[in-house]
Amino acid sequence: MPKELQIDKLDFNERSLISDTIFQQAPIGIAISYSNEPVVFKNNLVRINPELERITGRTYKELVKLGWDNITHPDDIEEDMNNLKKLQRGEIDSYSMEKRYIKPDGSNVWVYIVVAKFNLQNDYKYNYICLVQDISDRKAVEKALVESERSKSVLLASFPGMAYRCNYDHEWTMQFVSDGCFELTGYTSDNLLYNKDLSFNDLINSEYRDLLWNEWDRKLKNKQPFKYEYEITTAKGERKWVIEFGQGVFNKQGDIEALEGIILDITDRKNMESSLEYINEIDTWTGLYNRRYLENLLVHDAKIVTTKKRAVVSINLSAVQLLSMTYGFHYSQELIKKVADNLKSLCNDDRQLFNTYENRFVFYVKAYKDKNELVEFCWAITKIIEPILIIEKISVGIGVVEIDEDNKKDVELILKNLLISSEKARRNIDKYFGFCFFDAEMEAQLLREQNIILELTKIVEDENCDSLYLQFQPILDIKTNQICEFEALARIKNDELGPISPLEFIPIAEKTKLIIPLGDIIIRKALRFLKLLEENGHDKIGVSINVSGIQMLRNDFLKNLFDIIHDMQVNPSNIGLEITESIFFSNYQDINYILAQLKAFGIKIAIDDFGTGYSSLARERELNVNCLKIDKYFIDNLLSLKSDEAITGDIISMAHKLGHNVVAEGVEHNKQRQYLLKHGCDKIQGYLISKPVDEEIAINLIKIQYI
Ligand code: C2E
Ligand code: CA
Ligand code: CA
Repeated sequence: MPKELQIDKLDFNERSLISDTIFQQAPIGIAISYSNEPVVFKNNLVRINPELERITGRTYKELVKLGWDNITHPDDIEEDMNNLKKLQRGEIDSYSMEKRYIKPDGSNVWVYIVVAKFNLQNDYKYNYICLVQDISDRKAVEKALVESERSKSVLLASFPGMAYRCNYDHEWTMQFVSDGCFELTGYTSDNLLYNKDLSFNDLINSEYRDLLWNEWDRKLKNKQPFKYEYEITTAKGERKWVIEFGQGVFNKQGDIEALEGIILDITDRKNMESSLEYINEIDTWTGLYNRRYLENLLVHDAKIVTTKKRAVVSINLSAVQLLSMTYGFHYSQELIKKVADNLKSLCNDDRQLFNTYENRFVFYVKAYKDKNELVEFCWAITKIIEPILIIEKISVGIGVVEIDEDNKKDVELILKNLLISSEKARRNIDKYFGFCFFDAEMEAQLLREQNIILELTKIVEDENCDSLYLQFQPILDIKTNQICEFEALARIKNDELGPISPLEFIPIAEKTKLIIPLGDIIIRKALRFLKLLEENGHDKIGVSINVSGIQMLRNDFLKNLFDIIHDMQVNPSNIGLEITESIFFSNYQDINYILAQLKAFGIKIAIDDFGTGYSSLARERELNVNCLKIDKYFIDNLLSLKSDEAITGDIISMAHKLGHNVVAEGVEHNKQRQYLLKHGCDKIQGYLISKPVDEEIAINLIKIQYI
């Protein structure tokens, strides 16, 4: 049964009880007025419920006394009054409006009122009911919203870029764009909204479109803010750098509803950066791009799919530093500039020139036909710079590396191989000019070097590794014909690489600094042999050990050596160290100090390969050395030169005057031995006596008479 009918069936008392309860407890303000006058606000008969008292902050008595006009905000009176008049005149049956009441403390309360005719069974002509809803909360929110809208629009209008809200689609369909759009893109927001004339994607330069999409995709997946720099083309056709900050707007289910963000013009900043980059990437002296720029370019071009051939051609000038030392820095700089200027004449769209190091130039050659074209180009380079460099006796090595699918991504490797090939070209030539392509053979050589490094590492990591071993070559006292010493010579045998000569692995060990631990292992092995000699009753026979410069210059070299000697209980005066003259280049004072300490400990020092280095004999006097080992070169000379032409004898007598012993190296023939004996040489070493041999054989050699 419908409710109304139920109510209808209630008796009057019950009905009035219900309506009374509603009146008293309703969460809405209710006023019922009975009046004879069309518009009466005061002193008319009124019923007011407690909620209305609460809303207005006033008691029934106050309300009746003050009347509606006194508690209605002055701005709302007129509308209220007009409406009421219409109602009273019967023009309308009801009206509603939002208005403000003034509370006793002077504050306003916003209300929504519905005023309607109310027919009561009484004598009064005008009966009204007024329902009052407190909407101050809603109004406060609305006000804040208006305020925030206002400040947002002020902000967006004065914003130096473009704020947007767009769909997450490939067109970046704009739902909203701020006025800054025009300044930034040259298009109005109207042009862009909902892709009316064009989409935002159309503005983005094509090379960035995929990158941008992928970046958004990545960020949205992780719900991270988006930031990206890219270029757009404006309505006027100019390129502009922009930075975009944005974020995804997600709904409750976590789906993307839209993207919002701002886009700013950063062209000025980019210009500044690129001019800084220019300074960084240009060699200011030659005006050529530097290595950094070349590297970037090669990395960039590696990504381009093309069938065109690419190569780098390097031009290395030797001895420029020497020239600086002789004629001053300015002189060599002028020369470099001259070379640069001449090389520039070979540049064209497909041949770009770089100054990668002080004395190194690189051509980046594109779209060449074949290797022959590169060869011709190398000749052209030679022809153009030869006249400048030949008078300065500067040699030039030209290296070439062709860039292919295999190496294109490893720019560092390309440049390394380029250096290797040009250095090889420079070293290989008798002439001042030469060129060399980086090829399979050089690559194999590099691979072998890497394998040797692996082997060396294995040796220094595992003390028991027996691939490193020593052989010993006797040194004969030329007067007594007795073996007085052995030189320890290191060897490596490896199943895959075969026997590796020290001439090959020592320079690699030096380059990689592995010589330091390796040197210690060699010293230990050599001293073990010395111990063996002692144990076999040969306590006057010494062992000579080759030592590298970097090994000796290490801080703890002396301590380490003395510790080993102490550990192994050998006689220091039976130990010799061989060093080359080049060691003095690095630090004469330090080395001589170390030598003095070694000498004080009884250890003998020999200068190896004497005569091939740069040091002058005059200086040798100050050196704390005992012995000079004359290089095989001067011994070989004895075979081809007449006795009176050879200077070998002079070297011997000068060395003696300086108080040094003399050992002749690489003696292979009796003729040489006779000359050396005649000129007072102290000791000889070479195949004439014996090749380097294993230790048991070495010990057996001692017994032999070498007459
Ligand atoms: P080096 O110190 O001048 O050693 C002499 C080199 O000449 C040895 O070559 C030796 O085998 C060779 N030789 C000796 N007599 C003759 C001869 O009559 N005719 C010819 N043609 N050659 C002769 P090896 O053993 O190949 O050593 C080469 C170089 O490697 C050595 O030259 C030395 O500079 C270096 N080296 C060898 N062992 C070590 C080491 O333990 N430490 C260091 N730092 N360098 C080493
Ligand atoms: Ca030696
Ligand atoms: Ca030597």
